[in-house]
Amino acid sequence: MSSKVILTGDRPTGRLHIGHYVGSLRGRVEIQNAMDYKDMFVFIADAQALTDNFDNPEKVRQNIIEVALDYLSVGLDPNKITIFVQSMIPELTELAFYYMNLVTVARLQRNPTVKSEIQMRGFSKADRAEGKEQGTGSMKQGVVNPVQKQDASEGCAGHGEDNQPVFGSGLPVGFFTYPISQAADITAFKATTVPAGEDQKPMIEQTVEIVRKFNSIYGQTLVEPDILLPSNSACLRLPGTDGKAKMSKSLGNCIYLSESAEEVNKKVMGMYTDPLHISINDPGHIEGNTVFTYLDAFCRQEHFGLYLPEYASLDELKAHYQRGGLGDVKIKKFLGKILNQELEPIRERRKEFEKDIPEVYNMLQKGSRKAREVAASTMDDVRRAMKINYFEDKQLIAEQAERFKQQKH
Ligand code: ATP
Ligand code: MG
Repeated sequence: MSSKVILTGDRPTGRLHIGHYVGSLRGRVEIQNAMDYKDMFVFIADAQALTDNFDNPEKVRQNIIEVALDYLSVGLDPNKITIFVQSMIPELTELAFYYMNLVTVARLQRNPTVKSEIQMRGFSKADRAEGKEQGTGSMKQGVVNPVQKQDASEGCAGHGEDNQPVFGSGLPVGFFTYPISQAADITAFKATTVPAGEDQKPMIEQTVEIVRKFNSIYGQTLVEPDILLPSNSACLRLPGTDGKAKMSKSLGNCIYLSESAEEVNKKVMGMYTDPLHISINDPGHIEGNTVFTYLDAFCRQEHFGLYLPEYASLDELKAHYQRGGLGDVKIKKFLGKILNQELEPIRERRKEFEKDIPEVYNMLQKGSRKAREVAASTMDDVRRAMKINYFEDKQLIAEQAERFKQQKH
């Protein structure tokens, strides 16, 4: 039997979209159905979602069920794998606390995903966290904290494209340190394989460093994970419908898995293409053209026979677009049909699961119980390795008893 332990998760900050699907969900279902693993865990990262939505817990609460329904509708099966909710496993927080000792502030500051996400969320500029609570955001902007100072001395390392410090005074510690919490999520289950999109690469690298440091200090305990990226390069980081580098719930540029066929068509029709392709006869560009990137991610040979028989392949379609003479509307209609064919069975399954919502919560609770047992067992190993298992360490108690006995005489 395979010794692989698979683990992945998603933040309950919105319904899941087609970027999640091609970047991670589709691969997860393939792995699940191939049964090539010892154990497989998929979790809803609510604690992580709270690091940047701490002031909006209702958003997180509402989206737990949405993400769970998305999981079930793409074909993840709780009879085969364990689906759980992150915050229900307190061991994950405990592990993260100890891992914090093994990571420097400077190392976290070098994480490119964290940097871009901080900027995207507006934590870099104004004092979002404190400003909201105390109304002092603008006053604090000019204050340079030690972290910023260190950045400045390192040149532009801690600065964004606009040369503003990335690690501004509004950055919550929880958000800044979420890669450490992610390392706890992965290692608590001794995961060997993490199927994820490209943005997760720096997180896995960080996790591997933590594992190595932990094992070198405390002895072989944790397992090093590997990221499993989609083999199709268009799926590594699917752009948004607006042409922005990443489709992301937080950017509002998504096509959701649960959207109706009409909504999908409308969004596809409004998609970013090639701004230089003004009239049909102009030569068009493929690179950076979101419609073609989506075709690269979703189009299969059979789609031409079904929806666009005048072309034999995607290469032929691209060549025509590049030559000129092929309009955006035609390729958008083709893409809309392909997406809806892929999404239709997902929507249908979702409707079925929506009929028994309490059962979906029940499934999450059962999964969380099982996940907790596994994480607790790793936590026992960690406590033993770190010598913080005082009450079960019979040898320690005997030694101390002996030491004090000798002191008396
Ligand atoms: P948020 O904006 O709240 O961060 P998100 O849309 O980025 O949400 P996550 O929950 O952070 O989604 O990501 C979950 C998983 O989906 C990760 O493995 C991530 O790599 C993958 N993923 C997310 N967006 C994309 C995308 N546009 N293309 C490919 N994979 C993606
Ligand atoms: Mg994200």
